[in-house]
Amino acid sequence: MIGNTTKRNTTKIEVFQASHRVPLCSLWLKICLQLAVTIALSSTVACGKGTDRAGAASKPESTLKTPAPPQSAPPDSAPVPHIDAKRAFQYTREVTAFGPRYMGSENHKKLERYIIDHLKGDQVEDDAFTADTVEGTFPVRNIIAKFPGTKDGIIVILGHYDTNYPLRNIGYVGANDGGSSTAILLEYANQLRGGESGKTRDGHSVWLVWTDGEEAVRKWSDTDSLYGARHLAEKWEKDGTLKKIKALMVMDMIGDADLDIDRNTIGTPWLLDLIYAAAERLGYQSHFYAREGPIEDDHLPFVKRGVPSADVIDLDYGYNNVFHHTAQDTMDKLSPKSLQIVGDTTLETIHMLDQR
Ligand SMILES: [Zn+2]
Repeated sequence: MIGNTTKRNTTKIEVFQASHRVPLCSLWLKICLQLAVTIALSSTVACGKGTDRAGAASKPESTLKTPAPPQSAPPDSAPVPHIDAKRAFQYTREVTAFGPRYMGSENHKKLERYIIDHLKGDQVEDDAFTADTVEGTFPVRNIIAKFPGTKDGIIVILGHYDTNYPLRNIGYVGANDGGSSTAILLEYANQLRGGESGKTRDGHSVWLVWTDGEEAVRKWSDTDSLYGARHLAEKWEKDGTLKKIKALMVMDMIGDADLDIDRNTIGTPWLLDLIYAAAERLGYQSHFYAREGPIEDDHLPFVKRGVPSADVIDLDYGYNNVFHHTAQDTMDKLSPKSLQIVGDTTLETIHMLDQR
């Protein structure tokens, strides 16, 4: 879908609205996706997070089907990695307990401090700026933790920590959407820093980025979304960092107890396949890629600049995605097991990238 210049006109908010306005459409899509029936792409936008209606309609049979599983990974004798999922789940609970965490809010500031407090002794940088939006100006702050490696090149993992400004008054706490991504990155930091502070990891450098302003402040569009990621991609293009990135992965909505990671076709095929191979090595592959289709997320500005990227996202949160961007996005819908699956798979993917 990238490179197509037609207008992307569906939003994550619209997904929420559409699912209530057109329930039969959503049901139809769900059935179509699960039964691997090829359908007209003009309908698929209802399940997309900013998909390309016009472009999709021009290629009615090209996407949104069940993909064939990628080839199996070669044998590897290294022990399989495991995150501490209980701890990651506890982080999710604590992050969610702050309440709404939209840009510019007090809770947002509290969460910034919470993240920084968990990165004591790590190499932490800020990418802070003021975003000009249709709802006024907002302070935006990407938080970057760097874990140096012995090999050239950087593996970047992004996860957004903001919640939606338009949903600020409905008791929206974003346990899955914003909470789970913030938490799993904190757990990755625990895994990456090793024993002694400042110890160099045996492999590529890994940079974790808690992105800000992923959500639209009014309605998802090219200019109203991905504020932090767009700023960072531009900055890293100018300072030469982008050229050093071996792979970039986004974590988003990965806590759903009913975990079905989508094969987001806005992404780099070899990296999507590598993630699947990692999942397969851990026996988690049944949670990956039952559905495929284009979903816009924080990786988009990097994909546009040629960085090998993949979005690890489950955009089927509750039957027909009914909990997405609603006050029902709460802790009781999540499971530590899902964090375990995504966390272990991501660490294994990093290990495989180190071997390449
Ligand atoms: Zn969202």
